[in-house]
Amino acid sequence: MTRPISIEMVDLKTQYDRLKPEIDAAIFAVIEQSSFIKGPALDAFETGLAKYLGVKHVIGVANGTDALQIALMALGLKQGDEVLVPSFTYVATAEVIGLLGLVPVMLDVDITTYNVDIAKAEGLITKKTKAVVPVHLYGQSAPMDEILAFAKQHNLYVVEDAAQAIGSSYCSKSGKSGKTGTFGDIGCTSFFPSKNLGCFGDGGAMFTNNDELASKIRMIANHGQPRKYVHQVIGVNSRLDTLQAAVLLVKLQHLDDFALRRQRVAAAYDAAFLSIKDIVCQEIVPYSSHVYHQYTVRITNGKRDNLQTFLKEKGVPSMIYYPIPLYKQEAFSSYFNGEPHAGTERLCQEVISLPIHTEMKDETQAYIIEMVQSFFS
Ligand SMILES: *Cc1c(COP(=O)(O)O)cnc(C)c1O
Repeated sequence: MTRPISIEMVDLKTQYDRLKPEIDAAIFAVIEQSSFIKGPALDAFETGLAKYLGVKHVIGVANGTDALQIALMALGLKQGDEVLVPSFTYVATAEVIGLLGLVPVMLDVDITTYNVDIAKAEGLITKKTKAVVPVHLYGQSAPMDEILAFAKQHNLYVVEDAAQAIGSSYCSKSGKSGKTGTFGDIGCTSFFPSKNLGCFGDGGAMFTNNDELASKIRMIANHGQPRKYVHQVIGVNSRLDTLQAAVLLVKLQHLDDFALRRQRVAAAYDAAFLSIKDIVCQEIVPYSSHVYHQYTVRITNGKRDNLQTFLKEKGVPSMIYYPIPLYKQEAFSSYFNGEPHAGTERLCQEVISLPIHTEMKDETQAYIIEMVQSFFS
């Protein structure tokens, strides 16, 4: 099979070319109005996203990391309070906990779903444990029924890190279904360009059904001011630019189509890898849809790194999200003195993410699949 000219993990340019007329019009409308901060497109996007998510409040902020930080600030936690967080996630989830003088208490994850296993938190609860931050890794919801029940039992706030899962749906055992990120006290997401709903720079948002938390979040994100030049608490300056909101409002109309395109790519990979015994695909859980921010599988028998090298030689990019358990990172070493987490350790050794995006061509994917198959044959 001939090698496609260049294969990327994410193809943002082709997606832009496809949506160019709509996006360019939205951007130029903002420039014409020259209302760059808190302009009308921001309000329209916040309202549009709230409607899409079925949630009362959406507050745009500067990025996903800020969203997580402001969420924890809004909960009024005190220095030294403990926050449960998976040890297998992007650094931002745990970083903001430490930044605020709170203590990240790390949880192992399940090797089949890659999401947090809340049962592992049972022995870790102390008087200081105040919140849990589940991450919906790669686009599939964490088991929220179990997490919410656990949180209720131990009186914990739940802040969902939905940076990789915007648009996916969760269905609880009681039959209640809704968008991932809207079940806890506050949901957080990122509009980093490569995220499923990506803008043209940095962006993020928080969602909540709680009116009081919503006004606190707005106040904190705006220098702690409930009204202009009145500063009630120490806050931050974290805004979603009007230009970014205008781009996002266009892309929001395509978000479900983006998910379908990603799901189609994932299904083709799954089908092709079924017969390869060294590849273990991610378990598809019955309680969540999967929007495939990443297509990530486990490569067993120590072959992962060789596969990655082989693919690179064949022009196929791949990524390891994430290669090192958080507790093994120097920045977090002081927070951890327990046994290594079996699930996280194993995933760091075995996971590999393959190219997936909304513009994948059949021929390109066929080439990627053929290269993976040839490595194992
Ligand atoms: C991308 C991401 C973030 C941070 O978002 P930024 O917008 O880059 O700050 C946080 N958590 C997870 C799981 C992410 O994937």
